[in-house]
Parts: sequence; C-alpha cells; structure tokens
Amino acid sequence: MNKPAPDWHAAAKAVKTDGRALINGQRVAAVNGETFAKHSPIDGRLLAEIARGREADVDAAVKSARAAFEDSRWAGQAPAARKKVLRAFADKLLAAREELALLESLDMGKPVQQALAVDVGGSARTIAWYAEAVDKIYDEVAPTPATALALITREPMGVIGAIVPWNYPMLMASWKLGPALAAGNSVVLKPSEKSPLTALRMAELALEAGLPPGVFNVVPGYGHEAGEALALHMDVDAIGFTGSTRVGRRMLDYAGRSNLKRVYNELGGKSAFVVFDDYADIQRAAQTVAGSIFYNQGESCNAPSRVFVHEKVADEFLACVKSETPKYQPQDPLSGHAEMGALVDEGQLKTVLGYIDAGASEGAKLLTGGKRALTETGGYYVEPTVFIDVTNQMKIAREEIFGPVLSVIRFKTEEEAIRLANDSSYGLQASVWSDNLSRAHRVARALRAGTVHVNQYDEDDITVPFGGYKQSGNGRDKSLHAFDKYTELKTTWIRIDAHP
Ligand code: NAD
Repeated sequence: MNKPAPDWHAAAKAVKTDGRALINGQRVAAVNGETFAKHSPIDGRLLAEIARGREADVDAAVKSARAAFEDSRWAGQAPAARKKVLRAFADKLLAAREELALLESLDMGKPVQQALAVDVGGSARTIAWYAEAVDKIYDEVAPTPATALALITREPMGVIGAIVPWNYPMLMASWKLGPALAAGNSVVLKPSEKSPLTALRMAELALEAGLPPGVFNVVPGYGHEAGEALALHMDVDAIGFTGSTRVGRRMLDYAGRSNLKRVYNELGGKSAFVVFDDYADIQRAAQTVAGSIFYNQGESCNAPSRVFVHEKVADEFLACVKSETPKYQPQDPLSGHAEMGALVDEGQLKTVLGYIDAGASEGAKLLTGGKRALTETGGYYVEPTVFIDVTNQMKIAREEIFGPVLSVIRFKTEEEAIRLANDSSYGLQASVWSDNLSRAHRVARALRAGTVHVNQYDEDDITVPFGGYKQSGNGRDKSLHAFDKYTELKTTWIRIDAHP
C-alpha cells in the first residue's frame, strides 16, 4: 500500500528546530550569546533563533576541525571504513527525508515535494556516490627509469571551509561535503543566513551515522561576519564557495590577504537557450525553458534566463511559452503540488521586482506576469514573467536576476546567435536546439559554458562536473573531478639501487 502524503501543514506546526551551532560534536550557542531571527518566506512565521556566529565561533570550529585532522580520527581510517560511515550518513538523510524537506521548504520557500525529491534525494545520492567512489580510486606510479620509483599520491588537504547559498541549501552543502569528507578532510560549513536549518540537522545526522566529532562543524551566521572570518582564517586550507560573483570576488581577496588558501568559486549565471528554426518540436523547447526558468522560483544559478529564438519560429515559441505559464503561478509551497513557491525573502522580492521595472523602462515588453502575487499570505511571491523585445544590452539580459523572469531575444543567423549567447560575463550553462546534427555540434562547441545541453535542459547527475567558464567561477563540483579540489597531489621519489 502506498504511504499517504504527509500533512505538511500539520507537520510544519509541530516543527522544533535548534538554531545553535554544531562544533566538535556539540550543539553550542554563539560565544557572545547573540542570535538572529529566522522567518519563513512562505508566510513570515518565526522559525527559530539562530546562533550568530562570528570570528570566535569560527575559530573554535576551525580548531576542532584541525584537531580532528591532526589526530587522524577520520583521515586515518581506511577508505572502506570512511565509505561505511558516509553510506550510513546518506541513509540517515533518507530516513529523515520528510523532516529535512519540510525544513528546507519553510526556510527558503521552495515547494516541499520538490525539496523532498530533488534536494534531499539529491543530497543523499551525492554523499552515497562519493562514499562509494572513495575505495575505488587508485593513485599513480610514474614511468621512471629502473633506478627510481616515483609515486604520485593524493592526500586530504586538511581543513575545508564551505560557504554555501540559500537556493539549494542541502544540495550545495552536499556537493562540498561529499568529496571533501570522502577524501578525509575536516569541514567547517557556513550555511547562508537565509537558510541555516538543514545544514545544522545534517551535521547531527552525520554524527549519528558515526562521523567522529570535529570532522564536520557548522557555524551559522552572516556572510560579512562568520563567512568572512572563515575565508580569512589562517588555518583553513581551502574554501569551497558557492554564491554570487560579487562575493566570489571577495573570496579571492580574502585568500590573498591571509594564507593563500585555495579558493574554488561556483558563481552566478545568465545561461543562454538557443532555439533554431530547424528544430521540429518547438512546443517541447518552450515547455522545457518554462520548466527550467520557473523551477525553484528562478533561483537557480543555471536557470536559462536568456532565450535566443530564430525569428521564423519566434511567434510559435512565444505562444507556447505563454500557454505554459499558468502552471507556474505561485502557490502555497506546503500544498504538496505547487510548481512555484516563495522567493527567499523580502530583499530578493525587491530585487526581482526592481529588475522587472528596469526591463519595462529600458523598452522590453511584458508578454506575461510581472507582478507580486499572494501578498495576503505575508510571503514573497512573484508571477512567472516573460519579457519580449529584449536586446542583449539591457540590464535584464546582462545581470543575474535570480527570479522567475525570462528574457527573449530574436536572431536571424547561427553566427549572430553564437555571438549573442557568448556576449555575457557569465558562462555557466547553455543549450542549443536543432535537428541538424552538424549545427548542434558546431554550436555546442562554440558556446563558452561549463555545460552545454543539446535538445534538452533538464539532465543532471552527480556523475558529471558542474561549474562555469568566465565569471561563473573556477573548479568544478560533482563527479570524480571534485576530488581535485580537496586533495593535494604529492610526488614521492624513491631511489632503487641498481645492484644488490
Ligand atoms: P551570496 O554570494 O550572497 O552568499 C553566498 C554565501 O556567502 C552565503 O553563505 C553568505 O552568507 C556568504 N557571504 C556573503 N557575503 C560574504 C562575505 N563578505 N564574506 C564571506 N561570506 C559571505 O549568494 P546567495 O545570494 O546566497 O546565492 C545566490 C548566488 O549563488 C547566485 O549568484 C547563484 O547563481 C549562485 N549559485 C551558484 C551555483 C553554482 O554552482 N555555480 C549554485 C547555486 C547558486
């Protein structure tokens, strides 16, 4: 028999959360006792008082992480033993899936059933995948003369600072935690002040799964306080950062001003979606772009926010996109069937509405949407919005909006489409739609982006790297390549005497 769908509203009323930091295996208040209030963007309800971590809290967490690393309580375990613990951690995440999905939805406004399937499911898969990988990776022996042996080995780096955003709080944390922990590092995680709840719960579940205390610490707090202290800390070996390009720039500065720690930035995007007139199923392309730009309220780094459509099929394409939008009208994220929920907070609401105003005042035309919705709830909702008559120079085509706003630009030739798509400071993802095999390959090669999709946009998996060209960042999350970020490469030369 199928399990009945949870009563998310009843569960939400019963939610109890502990907003204290988790350092060295213990829940602790901030050193100076300060907290900040965390309200839900769904309806403004108070969710918890969260510890306001600052330099002293970060320092305590880094000290505990360093001590755990130095005494080898985790790094010293055999890969197969680390695998066992991390697999148990993934199982704990799945066992707590409804609780975690609810916390995620309440904290940042996404539809709860999407949090359940994508955020919690994806996080558990990420942790399990790195757990499974770690006892299957071999090091290298160099092709040296017989008089020497050169071993090329990977070693954990030490203490990793992970600073993550609020749009996929668990998933972004897991993309850092999976490879960093599997490789034997200790981690200090600083979740966004806008979405700290699941990170704290994840750290508890990791402890229950057998991860030794001190290996995974969480310090909640603001970016300019806890985040800055972590990125400037002299005893942090690397920062895995996901967030805005503006703050990513600072990460490089913090590293330069402190210990030259490695900085891996996963930043913003303005991904291009290019539809040619030789693609037969225009409706499919339109449904896909609507599903992708409005997913997660448009708060996705890889949202295809710039569409370039060939002038011959533009009218048909736009009619299809418009007919898709009613499906994405914002609804109560706890209803269990909303396709779009609430924006993360009032600041984000103002930012998105500000971009909508800017689009209109620069001469773009609203095809649909453009307004705030569900105001009576006390939450922050915006209609799915589509602008036409956009030029690539307009603010709405150049800057990351991070909301449910699509900009559509017409083109005439392949060369023009490639030039416009690449005319961006970002390069996270792109998509090309064409039934001409050579054109699809040619354009996919020409697009300057970390991931290019052909005739689809939704494929994604932990098995492939994720990251951007240009100002969308450096380094890559996911896949075996992510181990490169959290390990040092060591060469060991051994002399072998030619004769006994
Ligand atoms: P943000 O840059 O404002 O914040 C990200 C994190 O950095 C938060 O934890 C924040 O507290 C912290 N922070 C802020 N200021 C800081 C400072 N001065 N020093 C240290 N830490 C600081 O980003 P956001 O608004 O939370 O997230 C949205 C951004 O994240 C978007 O630009 C989006 O594209 C990007 N993102 C990128 C990817 C990717 O994989 N490329 C994935 C998800 C989100």
